[in-house]
Amino acid sequence: MAKFNPWEMACQQLDIVAEKINLDKNIHTKLRHCKRALIVSIPIRMDDGTVRVFEGYRVQHNLERGPAKGGIRYHPDVTLDEVKALAMWMTWKCAVVGIPYGGSKGGVVCDPTKMSLYEIEKLTRRYTSEISIIIGPEKDIPAPDVNTNPQVMAWIMDTYSMTAGYSVPGVVTGKPIDIGGSEGRLTATGRGVMFVINEALKYKKIKPTDCTVAIQGFGNVGSSTAQFLNELGCKIIGITDVSGGLFNKKGIDIPKLLEYVKKNPKKTIEGFAGADFVAGFKSANEELFQMDVDILAPCALENQITKENAPKIKAKIIAEGANGPTTPEADEIFHKNGVMVLPDILTNAGGVTVSYFEWVQDLQSHFWELEGIERELKRIMTKSFKDVLAIAEREKVDMRLAAYILAVSRVATAVKLRGVYP
Ligand code: NAD
Repeated sequence: MAKFNPWEMACQQLDIVAEKINLDKNIHTKLRHCKRALIVSIPIRMDDGTVRVFEGYRVQHNLERGPAKGGIRYHPDVTLDEVKALAMWMTWKCAVVGIPYGGSKGGVVCDPTKMSLYEIEKLTRRYTSEISIIIGPEKDIPAPDVNTNPQVMAWIMDTYSMTAGYSVPGVVTGKPIDIGGSEGRLTATGRGVMFVINEALKYKKIKPTDCTVAIQGFGNVGSSTAQFLNELGCKIIGITDVSGGLFNKKGIDIPKLLEYVKKNPKKTIEGFAGADFVAGFKSANEELFQMDVDILAPCALENQITKENAPKIKAKIIAEGANGPTTPEADEIFHKNGVMVLPDILTNAGGVTVSYFEWVQDLQSHFWELEGIERELKRIMTKSFKDVLAIAEREKVDMRLAAYILAVSRVATAVKLRGVYP
């Protein structure tokens, strides 16, 4: 089997929509390329005195609608093509929800679970310093992604500010609140996933209290999705993470699990008493994907739902908390089987939306209250869902293609208006 390449998948998704909307060939060609890709070496003196050199990337896909926006990922499997794909998906995501950003992404090939906190801090500071030539509040604004968090964002902000000579909170979002972060940012992606699922349930006339859910991943996105779906009244009966999976037909006690993971030094779900545990993510995911649930929410990594496992999936709704979890071949299977796929560029856009609020607050040095942030997030997510659904019904296409039609058309308009320089 050919090795999965996320960049090829992202281009394939663009090609499908380009054909559907008869996209101008020149614009299509332009959008198939990333504007900038920076590869950096990050030498770090490890705790044992040896020097290790890590490879890092920062990619900006398109800046036509505003400065670039995209998270930073620390993971051993990071590749340049993965970061390019994630940058392209950010372009579409910002366009779907109508916020004035282009798309970017960053990544460092490393395994933070095998590094000390001090090593992670040094890696973050050196990486920031290396990419500082292309980031900045008007240029490109990073945020958290897999294995990065508010503390990492604080180090990025501090490092960038040291060179500037003054505090530049607007260089990064997802920071701790005490240094210019926003209320509600930490859980914004999961809250947004819940708003989109809630709209889908209304459309399908299913009561949240009649709903069962399986979630892959229990990090930032998976855990907050679980928290808000639980508050909505849904029953979460399966959860997996890198350690394995928890299964309980009566429903997993989410507040207790959140508390457990917070205290667990490994930050995994392994060892939680309130459910059956299947060790190892491979077998656990296999079991999770075959569960008889209403909603399956992949909230871990890309390429999880493929043509191999899609036919066995029984869920009526797939809610993509993660970026790129479903391949185009699996999409086709779902479309044929009548499974509603809530696409990543819509479903997990709550994170970048509140990141946008954070950036605006930082630039104005004027901070908003949580209530207003949640209200505005709900407004944007429900409006975006309705915009995408209207296109899906009008064009008789699935929700992914509808979201792409909306996003690519908006970006194409900007490209056309600005023209080709020189
Ligand atoms: P995270 O590092 O906080 O959590 C990742 C989770 O996935 C962890 O629980 C980990 O154990 C689990 N995991 C890893 N490999 C797994 C596997 N093979 N099977 C099951 N679980 C596995 O990362 P995150 O920030 O929650 O990001 C998750 C996904 O959501 C990524 O695709 C990311 O790009 C996307 N996303 C994140 C944000 C955000 O605000 N953090 C916003 C939009 C999209």
